Amino acid sequence: MTKVYSTQPPGRVLASVEQIAQIFPSADGGTLQVLDGVNLTIREGEIVALLGRSGSGKSTLLRILAGLLQPSSGEVRYRGVPVAEAEPAVAMVFQSFALMPWLTVLENVELGLRAAAVPRAERRARALAAIDAIGLDGFETAYPRELSGGMAQRVGFARAFVQRPDLLLMDEPFSALDVLTGENLRSELMAVWGERELADQSICIVTHSIEEAVQLADRVLVLGGSPGTIQAELPIHIPRPRDKRSPTFEAAVD
Ligand code: ADP
Ligand code: MG
Repeated sequence: MTKVYSTQPPGRVLASVEQIAQIFPSADGGTLQVLDGVNLTIREGEIVALLGRSGSGKSTLLRILAGLLQPSSGEVRYRGVPVAEAEPAVAMVFQSFALMPWLTVLENVELGLRAAAVPRAERRARALAAIDAIGLDGFETAYPRELSGGMAQRVGFARAFVQRPDLLLMDEPFSALDVLTGENLRSELMAVWGERELADQSICIVTHSIEEAVQLADRVLVLGGSPGTIQAELPIHIPRPRDKRSPTFEAAVD
């Protein structure tokens, strides 16, 4: 059952998910329907948290939003254009960091820009700025195995930030970290986001922590049911002052 809510904040629609269903083949040779009738809209500049129990389909929905997985039915659009044609600027932060173990910190961060065909010198400069901004200064030539979990996830964030995506997708980015490390990184990120480069950059963060969702997001969507759908939407009334956002990400942390 799909409910329609009218709590959308103003702002242009960046991404819209319309009537998504996802059916996977299951281990017993049958099928498993994970998502059904999912509708959601992400507006420019919004931070949306997607809350739901383990197995409710949050990661699946993120992959569909990113255009990495074609849903069984329904459509994802960016500014009205189907995701396959829109080729949206989307970057992802993974729970398990997903760093390339054979590349240094700097090379891992630069990797985010390879696909975008950014010239080498600019790639290097942007990667170094992102590394500095996220507190990894001095670790440029380190390899992932030499980093703690918290530091490794900082690389994950730098790799995503450096791309300056329209939409930043984060799949439980703190849940592989110990509580203290996770909380430290979270509060640092909140400071960075408050001043993030693109005031119209949107963020969708998946979490199973209500506290994290309320702390970080402008709007909280709850995914639940079997198969999963958006069951509730909680607007958070802590508007983030746009005028406090400084013009560049790099400058914000100097
Ligand atoms: P969440 O991120 O909310 O924990 P997921 O989206 O990872 O949930 O998974 C939802 C359900 O879909 C789980 O039961 C999972 O096993 C199943 N699933 C996810 N991806 C696949 C896949 N590629 N093939 C088969 N089943 C899958
Ligand atoms: Mg998941």
